[in-house]
Amino acid sequence: MNTPASDTVNALYRHIPAVDHVLAVLDQHAASWLADAPRPLVKDLVNAFLDLVREEIRAGAISAAGQLELSALTPRLAAYVRQGLRPRFRRVLNATGVVVHTNMGRSLLAPEAVAAVASAAAHYSNLEFNLATGARGSRYAHVEELLCRLTGAEAALVVNNNAAAVLIVLDTLCKGREVIVSRGQLVEIGGSFRIPEVMAKSGATLREVGATNRTHLRDYESAIGSDTAAIMKVHTSNYRMTGFVKEVPLAELKALAGSYGLPVIEDLGSGSLLRFEGDGLPGEPTAQEAVAQGADVVSFSGDKVLGGPQAGIIVGRREIIERIKKNQLNRALRIDKLTLAALEATLRLYLDPELARRRVPTLAMMTRPLVSLRAQAARLAGLLRKHFPGRLDIGVRAGSSRVGGGAFPEADLPTALVCLKPADVPGALTVEALRGALLATDPPLVGRVEDDALCLDPRTLDAGEHPLVLSALRQALGDISNEPGQGPLLEFDCDQEDA
Ligand SMILES: *Cc1c(COP(=O)(O)O)cnc(C)c1O
Repeated sequence: MNTPASDTVNALYRHIPAVDHVLAVLDQHAASWLADAPRPLVKDLVNAFLDLVREEIRAGAISAAGQLELSALTPRLAAYVRQGLRPRFRRVLNATGVVVHTNMGRSLLAPEAVAAVASAAAHYSNLEFNLATGARGSRYAHVEELLCRLTGAEAALVVNNNAAAVLIVLDTLCKGREVIVSRGQLVEIGGSFRIPEVMAKSGATLREVGATNRTHLRDYESAIGSDTAAIMKVHTSNYRMTGFVKEVPLAELKALAGSYGLPVIEDLGSGSLLRFEGDGLPGEPTAQEAVAQGADVVSFSGDKVLGGPQAGIIVGRREIIERIKKNQLNRALRIDKLTLAALEATLRLYLDPELARRRVPTLAMMTRPLVSLRAQAARLAGLLRKHFPGRLDIGVRAGSSRVGGGAFPEADLPTALVCLKPADVPGALTVEALRGALLATDPPLVGRVEDDALCLDPRTLDAGEHPLVLSALRQALGDISNEPGQGPLLEFDCDQEDA
C-alpha cells in the first residue's frame, strides 16, 4: 500500500464527520448500552476513534470518501467505544486448574459470603456498634468468637492479609530484640514477601539458626540470650525439602521456649481449619493443631485454603492478642466491613466441616472427585466438538491440577483435561496463537499449553461457565467478534450470572 499524497489526505480529512454529529448517531445506534456511560469518557473515546481514522487515511487504509460515511463508521465506532468503556478489572474464566490462583483472585467466596458482602455494602451495619449496649463496639467481635471456637485459641484478631499479620505480630512482640528462626524456614512467598525482610521492617532482628536442611533443638537453645524476644516457626508452605532434613516439631519448640519464658510464633501461611488426607492430599498442620501444640500466636491467610476473603487471621493467647490490638499499626492494617462480612459468613460454614466442604468453592474445587471431573470434561468436550467440527481437534486426557496459593506445593490433583488443537488446515491458528487470542475474548479464557495443545481443566470452571467457554472460543476463532470494527461485540450477554 502506497502512502497517499497530501492533497488526497486533506480531501479525505474534510469528509470525517464532526464529533457532535458522530456522538448523536452513536447515541441512537447504541441507545441500549450507552445511556448510562460516563459522558466525558464516551467523548474521549469518540475523539480517539477519529484519530485512528485519520491515521488510517494517512496510511492509505481509508482511500475513498464512502468509507468515511457514518453508516460505514458507526458499527466500528460502537465496538471501539464499547471496548473502551469496559472496566479494566474484569472477570476471567480460569481453566488452569490452579484453584487458589494468586494472579486470578485466589479464592472465590461461598454464596453465603457473597450475600453478606452485598448486604454490608448496601446497608448500614453494626460494624462498630454494640447492639446490646447501644454504645460503640469492636469490629473484631463479630469474628473473634467464631475464630476461637474453630481454632481453640483464647483470642483472635484479623488484619488485611497474612503479610500484615506477621508484621504486626513481630512489631508488637519483638521490636528491637531478636527472633530465632530456622535457616530452613526463611521463605519467600512470591512478589516481595520474604521473612527476613518483613522482620527487618518490624524492627526485630533475625537470629538464624541451624543449617538449610537441618535444624536441631540445641541450635535454638544455644541461640537464646538476654535479647531473645521469641522463637518463630514459618510453615514452608510453597516448597518442600526432602532427603537429609530435620525440623524441630512445634511441641518441642514450645517446651524449650516455655522454659525460658519466651513466646512461640507460628506463621502457618495458607493455614487450614480442615485436613485433606482423605482427599488424597498430604497432611498439613491445621490452625487448631498449631494452637493445641502450644503456639502462642498463629497467623494465616483468609483467602488461601481457607477459601474466604483476603485477610490475615491472628489467633493465640489473650494477653498477646490484646497487645496486638492496641498496637497503633493495627489501625493501619485493619480490615474493612466487606472483608469482615465475607469472613464471618465463611467461618460460619466451618462450624459444620461438611457444609464448608460443599459451600466454600476453594474446598469444593480442591476435593472434587475425579469421576465428576471426567464427566465435566466429557460434557465440555462434547459441547465444543459440536461447534467446531473439522476446526479443532478436541480430546480428553488425564492430567493434574494444583491447589496453588503456595499450599500443598508437591501435590498433583488428578484431573481430566479437555485439550484443544487447531486442526491442521491452511490458515489455522497455532496453539500459542489460540492461547493468546483467548486472552482477548470477553470474558478472557485462561488455559495452559501442555504437549502442544491448549488444555482446559474443568476443576476450576463451573459447569455454568461452559457456554462462556464456547463463546470465548468462537470469538478467538473469529466466528463472532470481540474486536472493534467487526460488528456486535458479543452474541449473548456475558454479564449474566450463571444459574
Ligand atoms: C502466603 C503466605 C504469607 C503471606 O500471606 P498473604 O495473605 O498473601 O499476605 C506469609 N507467610 C506464608 C508462609 C505464606 O505462605
